[in-house]
Order: sequence, then C-alpha cells, then structure tokens
Amino acid sequence: MNVRDSEVIAGLLNKAGYKIVDTEKKADAVIFNTCSVRQHAEERVWSAIGRLKPDVLNSKPKIIGLVGCMAQAYKEKAFEKAGNIDFVAGPQDIHKIPRILEGLINSKVQNPKLFEKKIWETAGSIRPEEIYHSGYRQEKNHAYVVISEGCENFCSYCIVPYVRGPLRHRDYKDILKEIKQAVDSGITKITLLGQNVNTYQCGNVDFVNFVERVNSVKGLEAFGFITSHPKDTTLDLFKALANCERFNKYLHLPVQSGSDRILKLMNRGYTREFYLNLVEGYRKIIKKGSLSTDIIVGFPSETEADFQQTYDLVRRVEFDKAYIFKYSVRPNTKAAEFVDDVEKREKERRHQLILDLQKSISKAKNAKKDI
Ligand code: SAH
Ligand code: SF4
Repeated sequence: MNVRDSEVIAGLLNKAGYKIVDTEKKADAVIFNTCSVRQHAEERVWSAIGRLKPDVLNSKPKIIGLVGCMAQAYKEKAFEKAGNIDFVAGPQDIHKIPRILEGLINSKVQNPKLFEKKIWETAGSIRPEEIYHSGYRQEKNHAYVVISEGCENFCSYCIVPYVRGPLRHRDYKDILKEIKQAVDSGITKITLLGQNVNTYQCGNVDFVNFVERVNSVKGLEAFGFITSHPKDTTLDLFKALANCERFNKYLHLPVQSGSDRILKLMNRGYTREFYLNLVEGYRKIIKKGSLSTDIIVGFPSETEADFQQTYDLVRRVEFDKAYIFKYSVRPNTKAAEFVDDVEKREKERRHQLILDLQKSISKAKNAKKDI
C-alpha cells in the first residue's frame, strides 16, 4: 500500500513540476512515506530523519516531510520528536502535499533565516479519485492498483484502522479505468490492493464479480490481490478464480496464530479449523496455487501450548512463504490494554523456531519443483 502511495505522491509532484532525484543530497525536499504497523519500522524512520541534519543539507531550501501512517499517529507531536521536520501529512491528506510544498518553499525563499513555519494536515478523510490517475509508476510491467482504502476490522493488535481510517471502496468503473490506462501504457500484470480485499463492494459489484471483470480486461496478462482476510474469504471466490485464466494463482492469507484462544483475543473472527478448511478448499479448487501467510508470535498471554498450535499449523499447511513478526504494542489498540508479558528473548526464540521451520519447508518445496 505504501509503495503505491509513494507513486501517487511522486505522480502528483511530477504534475506540479517537481523532479524526482536519486539522492537526498540533490533534493530540495525529502519526503518520508511511513509505516506504523510495528515499533521497529517507526524507529528506522526517526533515525533516518535524524541523519538529515543541517550539515548534510546543501544551500538550497531544504524541506523535510513526514507523511503516511506515522504522520497520522504522531500529528504535530512529530515536530517535537524531530525538530527538522517541516511538514506532516496523513494518508488521507497526501493529495495536499504539492500545495503544502509550495507554501513552504515560498516562505523559505522569502525569509530563509526566520523560517519557523510548520504545517500539518491530518484531518482528511477522503482521497480525491484523480490522485490515482497521475500516471507515475515505478515498474514497467507491473502495477499496484488500490481498490479499497482504510480498514474497520479492528484486529486487537493493529494500528491500521486508527491511522488509515474507516473502510472506503473505490468505484469499480474508476478502478477498471485505471487498469486499462496502465495496460495501454505497457503494463501487463497488476496487483489489486486493500487491507481486506474480500469485503470489496460497490453497488451490486462484490469482490467475486469484480475479479471476473478484471480478468476480462483486454491486454492484461496476469492479476493478483493482497490482502485476503480469512473470515471474508469464500470457496465461491476460489471457484470464480479457477475460471479466471489471468489469475496469478497466488493467495496471501494471513493466519496470525494457530491457537483459537489467541485468535479470539486478536479479534480475528475465525478459528483454526475454519482456516485449515479454507486452505484445503483453496488447494482443491486452485490447482498448483501458491499460498503465503503472516504470523505474529508473542502476542500477550501466548503460552508455549498456544505457540505450539501455531508451529503445528505452519508444519501442516506447508506455506510457500511465511512472514513472521514479533508482537509489538501499538498505541490506542485494544491489545495495548493487555500486559505484553512474553519476554523479548522468548519472542525471539519463537520467531526463530518458525523461521527455521518455514525455511526447511520452503527448501523441500523448491527441491520438489526442481525434479
Ligand atoms: N491488512 C492486512 C495487513 C496488515 S499489516 C492483513 O489483515 O493481513 C501486515 C501484518 O503485520 C499483519 O498481517 C500482522 O501479521 C503484522 N502486524 C500488524 N500489527 C502488528 C503488531 N502490533 N505487532 C506485530 N505484527 C503486527
Ligand atoms: Fe489490521 Fe486486521 Fe485491518 Fe489487517 S484486517 S489492517 S490486521 S485491523
């Protein structure tokens, strides 16, 4: 999602007459598009901003912007955390960045010494549709296409609903127009994006109906989507996809935990058994489909027995890829009220155990493919 948002920002700035340069030293403005999903991601941003001290700046008016989810989480407090930030813009305010920059540049040029103005825009709720048509793409053959913004699933550990706001779906006609524009410019593969693509709905068009429409876009060779939430993923979707010859046969289905007790505390809305049945259905219906997942270890109160349930699920399912995370407390979330009682070393041990397990599964799978 952030890769696409960065393209949107670059496209808007291109349109406003700015150029993207390849090093910070050459830039008049440096904009950090940020993620808040784990503490570690945030720490890396603060230290990268810290490295942009005035002594590395050239003589041109230099502007530093913090945008995206960290901007939304910290709002004007970001200026206290890093005094060298000039502006802050949340994910629902990215379309305002050209205007913010213009204001800052004018005031810096007019009075560089007395420059003290700071701007923050974090009250936005709607992204104008035009921003998705600004034309800038990083890759030549592949494009990310946002279908839904925000999320209202409120998984108890997750900050996304608080920083990206409530769920909104783009109109399917606009999305198809964006896909056709991309295909006309030489793109052959697309990935549809949303925090939970399966809940897509626009009038009578739901996700199943929508993927069928995407599948029939002329000139498109392949499409996929991220992310699917197990609670909203259905066998009907798999059946429809089995008839979509352009579906890339890749499903990212985050399980998060293999323990029913932890899944409940996470507010995920499904059980271990439900998940395993879904995987079985996927493998039966989508022949030779690949499957990946996300897992969080060390969620508050996770016991060795809970962890073993997750370990066992990974062993049974044999994912093609698994992204494994150590639980990180996020402000304002429901889980932040629980005691973060799994010690750091224990989180690391559990993390390593699943990493090693997945590594051996991937190795065995690759060996099979080679035969
Ligand atoms: N909407 C997607 C992606 C959410 S963020 C989904 O529902 O899957 C991507 C991944 O980050 C999540 O799947 C989860 O595994 C992880 N994550 C989110 N919040 C976290 C936290 N507080 N600590 C550790 N990992 C977290
Ligand atoms: Fe976060 Fe859950 Fe929404 Fe994914 S579905 S973004 S994990 S709240």
